[in-house]
Amino acid sequence: MKIIDLLTEEKLTLSFEVFPPKTESAFDSVKHATEEIAKLKPAFMSVTYGAGGGTSKYTLDIAKNILKAYGVPTLAHLTCVSSTKQTVKERIIDIKNSGIENVMALRGDIPKGLENADRDNWDYQHAIDLIRELKEYSPDLCVGGACYPEIHPESVNQKEDIKYLKEKVDAGCDFLTTQMFFDNNLLYNFLYKIREAGITVPVMPGIMPITNANQVERAIKLSGSFMPQRFKSLVDKFGTNPDAMKQAGIIYATDQIIDLFANGIKNVHVYSMNKPDVAEKILSNLSSILN
Ligand code: FAD
Repeated sequence: MKIIDLLTEEKLTLSFEVFPPKTESAFDSVKHATEEIAKLKPAFMSVTYGAGGGTSKYTLDIAKNILKAYGVPTLAHLTCVSSTKQTVKERIIDIKNSGIENVMALRGDIPKGLENADRDNWDYQHAIDLIRELKEYSPDLCVGGACYPEIHPESVNQKEDIKYLKEKVDAGCDFLTTQMFFDNNLLYNFLYKIREAGITVPVMPGIMPITNANQVERAIKLSGSFMPQRFKSLVDKFGTNPDAMKQAGIIYATDQIIDLFANGIKNVHVYSMNKPDVAEKILSNLSSILN
């Protein structure tokens, strides 16, 4: 199933993101975790792509397994970083042969040590380059792109970020998924601005349930997300009690999702990563709302 078809239905949906193993020895445990999430029958599951190249070969293996064994539609991520025109061509053939209809086209995080490298000779500089090529080779693929309610950390300002986002959408992006955020007002503000800029494709908010205190620092570093005082208090109070922190983090994420649904958003993507218990708890918290 194409994700764009799902996003244009009236139903409220949740989808989950998982990541592939970094090594072959971790493959079976990751496969098992992703299967446990697939058994919950989310609207779809996305599988990230290691821009450093290390985990990239497992993205399709995990995505194919979820689709084939559980019938859950999958969204395979693909990055400019570590891709060449040749590898993209090969991957598109592999994606199509495995029945996957959705690709998330990303620039990718620049691997450590390459931040200041001369990137002019890379085959793809920005996600837009990859999107153009995906649509050229395979116009029927449903292609997603990333967006940033709190602006991308490399952007000079939001106006410029939204200008490039509009170009990316015009190049063939069927839908957008946001970076995580912990204050829904940032999302509502962002939506208003991008709609005003003429970006009309569906936007799926990405919600990250923070289930342990160590995750907080990493999440902020990665995303540059603003931490509302309400969330900081929760981490201060429960951060040293793992069970309490997990419960509070899941409830905080659930509360964000309820507020999004209540304000007219129909589809929410959850960065549950490879944690079936977290995915299960969020779904059960929302059981009557989603039915
Ligand atoms: P781009 O759209 O290329 O934007 C990157 C920066 O360049 C922005 O500042 C933008 O304003 C600017 N820009 C865009 N186009 C142009 C242009 N034509 N000229 C000049 N500047 C331009 N990373 C992974 O490695 N693997 C994953 O699986 C993965 N999944 C993700 C999923 C989601 C939903 C999100 C939000 C992020 C994900 N990331 C992933 C992280 C992502 O790769 C990084 O945030 C990366 O730094 C930017 O990717 P992008 O596709 O948004 O890049």
